[in-house]
Amino acid sequence: MKRIETICVQGGYTPKNGEPRQIPIVQSTTFKYDTSSDMAKLFDLEASGYFYTRLQNPTNDSVAAKIAQLEGGTAAMLTSSGQAANFYAVFNIANAGDHVVSTSTIYGGTFNLFSVTMRKMGIEFTFISPASTREEIQAAIRPNTKAIFAETIANPALTMFDIELFADVAHKNGVPIIVDNTFATPVHCRPIEWGADIVTHSTTKYMDGHGAAVGGAIVDAGRFDWMAHADKFAGLCTPDDSYHGVTYAERFGKEGAFITKCTAQLMRDFGSIQSPQNAFLLNLGLESLHVRMARHAENGLKVARFLSESDKISWVVYPELEGDANYALAKKYCPNGTCGVVSFGVKGGRAAAEEFMKNLKLIAIETHVADARSCCLHPASATHRQMTDEELYAAGVSPDLVRLSCGIENAQDLIDDIKQALERL
Ligand SMILES: *Cc1c(COP(=O)(O)O)cnc(C)c1O
Repeated sequence: MKRIETICVQGGYTPKNGEPRQIPIVQSTTFKYDTSSDMAKLFDLEASGYFYTRLQNPTNDSVAAKIAQLEGGTAAMLTSSGQAANFYAVFNIANAGDHVVSTSTIYGGTFNLFSVTMRKMGIEFTFISPASTREEIQAAIRPNTKAIFAETIANPALTMFDIELFADVAHKNGVPIIVDNTFATPVHCRPIEWGADIVTHSTTKYMDGHGAAVGGAIVDAGRFDWMAHADKFAGLCTPDDSYHGVTYAERFGKEGAFITKCTAQLMRDFGSIQSPQNAFLLNLGLESLHVRMARHAENGLKVARFLSESDKISWVVYPELEGDANYALAKKYCPNGTCGVVSFGVKGGRAAAEEFMKNLKLIAIETHVADARSCCLHPASATHRQMTDEELYAAGVSPDLVRLSCGIENAQDLIDDIKQALERL
């Protein structure tokens, strides 16, 4: 296995003699076969190959293979969005009547997916603090718990997830952990190395990095022994009648069962496929991910330090800021830097926050983060506006919170823009 910088540039696709150097965009919904029996083998999962882009496409597979390598996993798949990735990752192992433990500091869209939409599908969620003790994590797990879910660096609360601790408790209970690694990216943290079983991404963020294409990804570490807990994970460990009785964990082993089932069942039935065009754009982003992440984190820290010294700012949260509640975990899990996102409160509360944002010139107001261009958002009136004040506080989002995503511009220019916006308050 090559180092992360080399995988960013060259992973997932190795052209043969005379083939395109760049990943070709296979802009085709379908693939041609000489005989019906050739195609039947594909439908029965007896041979691997392409037949319809909703299931698999060569462009998508190359990019998914790169992401699998970046995370140190055995298999990966792309989805149309991060929402689809998290939905598929959980729904692949949890059905009606099951239970999932999630940290409360997660992206607002994911919180809504879990607490409203998946609850309607009969799956129950318990939300616990990412700062939970071993005993508190244990107390949240029930006999029907199928997964623990969290974000490496939470959006926008910026709490760090203690992967080792949660993985240890989860595994003692025969439960896998699913980690959304969108903010850290594999350049700054590889959750699988710390015990994560499934890693998800909104590739819309740093992986694409240019605000060009919405997308998601799911990576399997290939280590969770489904068969050892066959009663819990019947979907992976008993025959699937919709695929002529294939038992995924038997046929594809620990390394391939999760992603094969997720593709064969969920992608087949829900169809949240990433377009090959978007996969191509995502790959362009991945080629420079290691270079950009270093600058995002450097700018994030510089801006966080500036804000923490300003008398117009009431509080700043950035995991690498000395004295931050998550400082020790940030140093452990992200020793080379975290991300470009900084959360803070402007003195004067919600109204001052809105005034400050209006005064910014370089930094734009956007429902986005983790992009080459700096942007900011007031989550309480945007991504998290469906939440009650109580839920907002549990998610680590106070009503005055401004989420600033530092891009890869010059750090001093960003600080100058913030400075003039604060001075005009
Ligand atoms: C944005 C985001 C999502 C949702 O991803 P989309 O690509 O917008 O669907 C999920 N998790 C995290 C941490 C995010 O930042």
